[in-house]
Amino acid sequence: MVHETGYYDLLGVSPKASPEEIKKAYRKLALKYHPDKNPNEGEKFKHISQAYDVLSDPKKRDLYDQGGEQAIKEGGMNGGSNPMDIFNMFFGGGGRMQRERKGKNVVHQLSVTLDEMYNGSTRKLGLQKNVICEKCEGYGGKKGTLEKCSTCKGRGVQIKVQQIGPGMIQQTQSMCSDCQGQGEKFSSKDRCKNCNGHKVERKKKILEVHIDKGMKDGQKITFHGEGDQEPGLEPGDVIIVLDQKEHPVFKRQEDNLRTNVNLKLVEALCGFKKTIQTLDNRTLIITTQPGEVIKPNDIKSIQNEGMPIYKEPYEKGQLVVQFQVEFPEKHWLPEHLMYQLERLLPSREDLLIVDEMEEVDLCEVDVQTQQKTYSGEAYDEDDDDEGPRSGVQCQTQ
Ligand SMILES: [Zn+2]
Ligand SMILES: [Zn+2]
Repeated sequence: MVHETGYYDLLGVSPKASPEEIKKAYRKLALKYHPDKNPNEGEKFKHISQAYDVLSDPKKRDLYDQGGEQAIKEGGMNGGSNPMDIFNMFFGGGGRMQRERKGKNVVHQLSVTLDEMYNGSTRKLGLQKNVICEKCEGYGGKKGTLEKCSTCKGRGVQIKVQQIGPGMIQQTQSMCSDCQGQGEKFSSKDRCKNCNGHKVERKKKILEVHIDKGMKDGQKITFHGEGDQEPGLEPGDVIIVLDQKEHPVFKRQEDNLRTNVNLKLVEALCGFKKTIQTLDNRTLIITTQPGEVIKPNDIKSIQNEGMPIYKEPYEKGQLVVQFQVEFPEKHWLPEHLMYQLERLLPSREDLLIVDEMEEVDLCEVDVQTQQKTYSGEAYDEDDDDEGPRSGVQCQTQ
């Protein structure tokens, strides 16, 4: 029984969500609210990370389901994991040591269709990135003209003294804005005109993203060294994370595809021939065996018509077909013909009726209320009798 759902709500998943669903939800939200993309949503990013930290760990999730956030805190499970560490671990941002010598990795999400993952495709992605200034080769100005910053006297910091009350002064230290904390700067005539002394310039770069057959939702494609350039640092990577869109006909389950086929009652009983359009536009014909009967929700599979296997694209998973049977509406057959139909159908079982039995009405059921009753939520703790609570409605004629 789940008491608190705050963490689930944050990720927008149900308390019954599978680990996969939780991963996917975190992936989407973390990319959306990452401070690089959404600097004003730092708190939200922190909360999402916290929720994921707990729900992605079976032990912590158990504890949370039983006792909520309180239990997590008391159990010392709230280890104060840094949201950025959680993000980097998930998307592969490298360790702290690595980050010091290397520029930041940049993660982008790319929305792809199931068709693209089935057939393979190439997508062009335009990115803005910092590259070392061509004019000054990342020096920032004319070589040998760097001078000590007069504002901060070469310390890189500015100290401000402020009187905040009678006899009270406050001393604040901040990065020198004239030299960006470098302690040195170019005079305006020596500063590189192209990058304005920033050593880097913003440039557009087109990346070709190859989506191979059989790639999966959440799969990462890494472009090594395509991150922002910075003098003296090895550039980080650009990491593209694939986000598979829902398909109207096929649902992917790992390497298998699932689809529904609707049958009329006559087809379910007397056999059928149907077609299925594949994702590479072939038409498959499916047929029942003579004498076969398909029941509602029956499942059949077609070998080697699922998703191509990544790196082995000639191998494919299964295509799983689930049948729905459409029954005719009431009064579809005049009563005298009903008698004839009955003679053809498997016979009924005889029922022995005795006096002690009670005859009752069969009523229509409001499905939503019915489900609540089953899960026990419709009953309040104060067990008073305020009349019927169920959604059962009877039509009296
Ligand atoms: Zn300065
Ligand atoms: Zn320059």
